[in-house]
Amino acid sequence: LVVLDSVNKHFGALHVLQDINLTIKRGEVVVVIGPSGSGKSTLCRAINRLETIDDGSITIDGEPLPAEGRELARLRADVGMVFQSFNLFAHKTVLENVTLGPIKVRRKPKAEAEERGRALLDRVGVGNQADKYPAQLSGGQQQRVAIARALAMEPKVMLFDEPTSALDPEMINEVLEVMQQLAREGMTMIVVTHEMGFARSAANRVVFMADGRVVEEAAPHQFFDNPRSDRAKDFLSKIL
Ligand code: ATP
Ligand code: MG
Repeated sequence: LVVLDSVNKHFGALHVLQDINLTIKRGEVVVVIGPSGSGKSTLCRAINRLETIDDGSITIDGEPLPAEGRELARLRADVGMVFQSFNLFAHKTVLENVTLGPIKVRRKPKAEAEERGRALLDRVGVGNQADKYPAQLSGGQQQRVAIARALAMEPKVMLFDEPTSALDPEMINEVLEVMQQLAREGMTMIVVTHEMGFARSAANRVVFMADGRVVEEAAPHQFFDNPRSDRAKDFLSKIL
């Protein structure tokens, strides 16, 4: 579903993505981990075309990423993205946050967008918060709204960039549970996270990045119990 072929990206002299080859199949959950600065966020942003790439190609469902315009907006809508900071529209209600994209980009009638929006908010456990503003919600609730907002666009793949790292510990699980549920329902997911419990239980594959490269790719149990590379061993010894 998502194919990266020899993707390279520089920030000036920094070679932030080095010849990345990755294929994510439909329904697959891939957890990306690695040290700070290894290029994980840049990878996510490149898939969503929030960053350009220097060479190589990225296709989603067989289609290359268009450069700009309406096509880009449509393709971006196929890729749901959830960030570390919740990035909700502060001056819109929770329900408006979830219906804006479907109305503007997917051209859905308002009533239909609202009905579906409420159903999605229910599904992530914040149905009773629909008429509040983001600032009136806890971090965990806001992040679940952000997930519902991404889902409202009916994306083909969901990207999560450290979705729980800005949350207080007691709120982490409520967000991870929503993500677990999505994974069980067969959503294709790329998740940057250091939550090893989630990686072990939800991921089909772990991709370990260091210095802009994919150093290791393995099933979670294999990666955590028997990492092959010294970089991965060193990294795991620091976080586990
Ligand atoms: P973290 O775990 O800290 O989130 P990361 O793996 O997500 O790290 P990236 O954010 O992708 O890493 O950054 C990779 C490298 O690229 C870092 O050295 C970072 O400083 C650099 N970088 C990121 N964005 C830019 C930018 N817009 N301009 C210049 N350098 C950048
Ligand atoms: Mg990052």
